[in-house]
Amino acid sequence: MHPFSLSSTEDPANAIAAHARDSQLAFIAGGTDLLGLMKDRATFPDRLLDINRLPGMAHIESRPDGALRIGALARMSDVAADLQVRQRFPVIAEGLLFAASGQLRNMASMGGNIMQRTRCAYFRDDDDAPCNKRRPGSGCSALHGINRNHAIFGWSEACVATHPSDVAVALAALDAFVIVRGMGGERSIPFTDFHRLPGSTPERDNVLERGDLIVAIEVPARPEGRASHYLKVRDRQSYEFALVSAAAAVATNGRQISSVRLAMGGVAHKPWRLSAAEAALRGVSLDDSDGLKSAIAKSFGHARPLAHNAFKVELAQRVALRALQTAGARA
Ligand SMILES: Cc1cc2nc3c(=O)[nH]c(=O)nc-3n(C[C@H](O)[C@H](O)[C@H](O)COP(=O)(O)OP(=O)(O)OC[C@H]3O[C@@H](n4cnc5c(N)ncnc54)[C@H](O)[C@@H]3O)c2cc1C
Ligand code: SF4
Repeated sequence: MHPFSLSSTEDPANAIAAHARDSQLAFIAGGTDLLGLMKDRATFPDRLLDINRLPGMAHIESRPDGALRIGALARMSDVAADLQVRQRFPVIAEGLLFAASGQLRNMASMGGNIMQRTRCAYFRDDDDAPCNKRRPGSGCSALHGINRNHAIFGWSEACVATHPSDVAVALAALDAFVIVRGMGGERSIPFTDFHRLPGSTPERDNVLERGDLIVAIEVPARPEGRASHYLKVRDRQSYEFALVSAAAAVATNGRQISSVRLAMGGVAHKPWRLSAAEAALRGVSLDDSDGLKSAIAKSFGHARPLAHNAFKVELAQRVALRALQTAGARA
């Protein structure tokens, strides 16, 4: 493992300035992803800055406008157990509880979770297979290699990886915001703009710049929040990343859908919103499964499966349908 030094700070301004001026410095929160990447030689920071003692970043609180603010240092287990989260946004609690293991969730922070990097085996492989995310310009081993777990939407010739976070899918469905403090002050990034598609620069997972510190995630009050569900399909029942997952949140008028939010995981380089399906689902009855299916299919016309993952096109539609029906049963 590459040698590194470790320091910590209690001052956010110091943390931001240190990160902005030193390209070899990385923030460390729970360390559950970063240390694995360092052991796999996928990243080589010389200096780690422990941000766990930064003040006010582990709270979960309601804002006067009804939004829920989740500090970036709040632990996954604490957020999953929070009564407001469970009652107002079950999709978030479920997205967290279906992730990793109890021990990991106790350690792992919300900021670190949405920053975690792909589980593409070539990227994590310390044999140094060609990987544009690991070594820009070296090629993509998965494009014509083993790509069963990879993307069916939004990929490029440079990278076909998927984003691994579960809770990010729920946050994308709810149109949450990532609150970031950087050298220029604080800004709020719409969740669906936070992660990037790979294009020709797959080494960049998200839109953060040097010196950017995630301080919180804000979830606006959403009428669909209470009737929501996260469904994750994986190769084994626990302690496994998603093959395909769906976050669904719905508001109804009787049994008729008045508004719906749908996002998928395991299908793209970022959480993938099913906007065409959302539009088509308005007015459809939750009891009309053929109507629900054909509305969901509207988001799959442009799916581009790879050699080993065509099954995901059908699987994803079934997972979206089941997630929607379960959310609907809570309405
Ligand atoms: C065996 C295993 C199984 C897992 N299974 C799942 C799963 O099923 N689903 C799932 O969603 N996740 C899963 N995970 C991933 C896990 O959820 C992440 O490792 C964890 O959430 C990362 O949080 P952390 O606080 O440990 O981040 P760290 O490892 O400390 O940091 C990760 C990255 O985020 C950056 N960072 C951290 N905090 C901030 C901040 N506030 N601002 C800016 N940058 C920051 C760090 O610099 C680093 O680049 C699994 C992990 C392991 C090891
Ligand atoms: S899919 Fe992306 S992460 Fe995986 S080998 Fe290709 S470039 Fe690397």
